Amino acid sequence: MDYDARFENLLAEMKRDGRYRTFAELQRLAGAFPTALRHGPDGEAQRVTVWCSNDYLGMGQHPDVLAAMHEAIDASGAGSGGTRNISGTNREHVALEAELADLHSKQAALIFTSGWISNLAALGTLGRVLPDCAIFSDALNHNSMIEGIRRSGAERFIFRHNDAAHLDELMSSIDPDRPKIVAFESVYSMDGDIAPIGAICDVAEKHNAITYLDEVHAVGLYGPRGGGIAERDGLAHRLTVIEGTLAKSFGVMGGYITGSTQLIDVVRSLADSFIFTTSLAPHLAAGARAAIQHVKAHPQLRARQAANVAQLKAMLIAAGLPVLDTPSHILPVIIGDAHLCRQISERLLSEHAIYVQPINYPTVARGQERLRLTPTPYHTEADMRTLVDALVAVGRDLGWSGARQAA
Ligand code: PLP
Repeated sequence: MDYDARFENLLAEMKRDGRYRTFAELQRLAGAFPTALRHGPDGEAQRVTVWCSNDYLGMGQHPDVLAAMHEAIDASGAGSGGTRNISGTNREHVALEAELADLHSKQAALIFTSGWISNLAALGTLGRVLPDCAIFSDALNHNSMIEGIRRSGAERFIFRHNDAAHLDELMSSIDPDRPKIVAFESVYSMDGDIAPIGAICDVAEKHNAITYLDEVHAVGLYGPRGGGIAERDGLAHRLTVIEGTLAKSFGVMGGYITGSTQLIDVVRSLADSFIFTTSLAPHLAAGARAAIQHVKAHPQLRARQAANVAQLKAMLIAAGLPVLDTPSHILPVIIGDAHLCRQISERLLSEHAIYVQPINYPTVARGQERLRLTPTPYHTEADMRTLVDALVAVGRDLGWSGARQAA
């Protein structure tokens, strides 16, 4: 086989479809969030306003977080030195796990090198160790949950997105004595919609199932202490497992699960993607813990972010732009065409110093291509005005129907 020719074909196909990914090379500027330097292909650098970061609260530059990370590096050095089992369990890991268990009012927590790995490890293990397990998975679950379920070897049932009645129907169709897991998310990252957690727990409890909730896009942002939608709605106690990330609202890196002592101990003891890999660097754990402590104690940060989200949404709507009316902090502006979406993004960058990455297939379905805006507490009203005006100007210039209707 001519391997390179095969690879060329694959790449050409992606380019034709408009789903070939180009990465913006950014240099984040601590102290100037959400501004970054963007380095172009010809070596030029441009200051841009980032509108699509998952560092939702800007904690990746917070002085408390940076200080904790510097201190940990000075005290413990760079890496962890091993797997958790063989010399790689640092005091910072243990302290972070206690902080996370407290955040979600659970008995125990376990950290992983990313949120992606935490889903792979936890669902992969739970589905494998429970004999004849059936896993009920929301149709729009994240790739990491899908991979975890696949890896577990458990039988998978997919319920219609956020549809508790369909979940009930599927659960009723199998042997009531089989062990069952219901896996879903709280805030869905591409549409910004929120699961009916209470209704899903009602069904799961009726069928004696484990409930597994991914709060990756909600931790830090919702609830009195940033414990997520489950905390906000007083439902955390009804979820067997709450999973999250340290990389979005907590601004650092890593992922985790929280749950009962026994469940966490089983995943700790049996998950190969936890066992056979070097543990998180201690300074990452230290930074994440500082971020969680800050976020827990500062609801005003959440309030400021929510106010900015509401303001930008109102401005987009007032300008007649097709923003989805989401109940969360995620504001998707639907473009509906891969090439156009990329062109709009490129023009926003080159002409208006605005960086918002186009979201194309396979991250969203074809025809649902979009710009996904994530306002932070640090975007100003002037940033929002610039964004809305630029979207209208660029969109009109490119013949985008969404902008033609704009005021
Ligand atoms: N779960 C969901 C719903 C996600 O959207 C993501 C990533 O965006 C992850 C898990 C993975 O988290 P991490 O970025 O920490 O690997």
